[in-house]
Amino acid sequence: MTQFSELGLADAILKAVADQGYTTPSPVQAQAIPAVLAGRDVMAAAQTGTGKTAGFTLPMLHKLQQGERASANRCRALVLTPTRELAAQVGENVADYSKYLNIRSAVVFGGVSINPQMIALRRGVDVLVACPGRLLDLYQQKAIRFDEVEFLVLDEADRMLDMGFIHDIKKILALLPKNRQNLMFSATFSNEIRTLAKGLVNDPVEIDVSPRNSTAHTVEQWLIPVDKKRKPEVLSHLLKQHGWKQVLVFTRTKHGANRLTTHLQDRGITAAAIHGNKSQGARTRALAEFKSGDIAVLVATDIAARGLDIEQLPHVINFELPNVAADYVHRIGRTGRAGASGEAIALVCAEELEDLEGIEGLIGKSIERRVQEGFEPNTPLPVSRPKSPRKPKKAKQPKGFKDTFDREPRAPRPAGSGRSNGNGGNAGRSSSGRSGSAQKQGEQKQGEQRRSSGSSGNNNGGNSRPAGSAPRRPRRPAQG
Ligand code: AMP
Repeated sequence: MTQFSELGLADAILKAVADQGYTTPSPVQAQAIPAVLAGRDVMAAAQTGTGKTAGFTLPMLHKLQQGERASANRCRALVLTPTRELAAQVGENVADYSKYLNIRSAVVFGGVSINPQMIALRRGVDVLVACPGRLLDLYQQKAIRFDEVEFLVLDEADRMLDMGFIHDIKKILALLPKNRQNLMFSATFSNEIRTLAKGLVNDPVEIDVSPRNSTAHTVEQWLIPVDKKRKPEVLSHLLKQHGWKQVLVFTRTKHGANRLTTHLQDRGITAAAIHGNKSQGARTRALAEFKSGDIAVLVATDIAARGLDIEQLPHVINFELPNVAADYVHRIGRTGRAGASGEAIALVCAEELEDLEGIEGLIGKSIERRVQEGFEPNTPLPVSRPKSPRKPKKAKQPKGFKDTFDREPRAPRPAGSGRSNGNGGNAGRSSSGRSGSAQKQGEQKQGEQRRSSGSSGNNNGGNSRPAGSAPRRPRRPAQG
């Protein structure tokens, strides 16, 4: 088996890797590191948990430390991520792996004050991890220039498209120097992703560590057919019966997450909800308590769970199936990480047959059914016929704001209510700094603020919002 020391990485990087306790490169690392070092573009099918972050960061750092440092308001490597959690996580990894190098890095995302980010960029950073909306804002404010960009990393490209970032990405791509190395990572490779990849990567080394759209092998997955109304009960029963200590539970909606959390707490199970309506502080706290074992159950919506780095998570429960099939792959990618085995259990009612068929079609197999004694459904779950998954639904606009993440219908905001994030964010700039399609972009960016609150060089975003102001729902832009 390849060792890190055989990959040709600088000693300072190997030392940082050893500090992390990694002994051997993961498959994606063993393939990506030599390719990036050789100057090749990379297109990798790798989900969270495969070690993909180190796969692109380590060789990039190796090459960056050989060149000249970034000039003022410039970056040399640009890493684009869909969510603030992932941006923060990648930023932390970059800081960890570069701790023995003379490399500067920063993380930027929306929802918090832009000023510290502008200050951080003044001296120039070698690695900039960014969510697209805030990055464009910083560009517009002349806080960042792209003429020194040597590397572009598109992380979780599938999620970027799902979240409606395609326009922002295209805008950013148009601003980058032509001569650069491109690395693209995606858990799934839809036709849409392949189209994006065509205009992005040149003659890439293709890496596929999880066969197309398949789920991790180390995850044992099954489903429990159950009536919809008995799902909370069967969940608390399972948790008590098995005494599971660290369980990530997915719900479709934020309210559903809150309700379920209360149900569990009422039954003496320690649980916390993590979703887009929670402040960044509350999310960070819940995650910390979950990681430390103070709470046994984290109830999350898809968007909130994105980018969470919880090592060797033993159990993931789909309280409801996602109606975007690829989300199932993402969800259960939270378990069986880095070679550890895990169990992914779905509670499925008859109404979810269509979602189940889409998922089974995507992963290319039927999910084993195990009836839970005492919870046999009154409305049986029909036999599924796996089929091509449905495309993610596009939000219908303009009446009301549809939550494209948690799929909760939201009330329309009152006209002229404006939006303030309470921290001098960029609501004003959206309209003043942009013309033409400013309105749409502003909404798109606000969408990112909901998703991607940010900070500079650290991950303690304070996603505060004035009490009583309805969160603005992201609006999926018309996709090109
Ligand atoms: P990622 O897929 O980049 O989110 O990484 C998933 C987890 O695997 C993170 O917690 C990393 O710290 C860890 N990890 C990355 N590379 C290795 C490795 N070679 N050996 C063990 N753990 C690793």
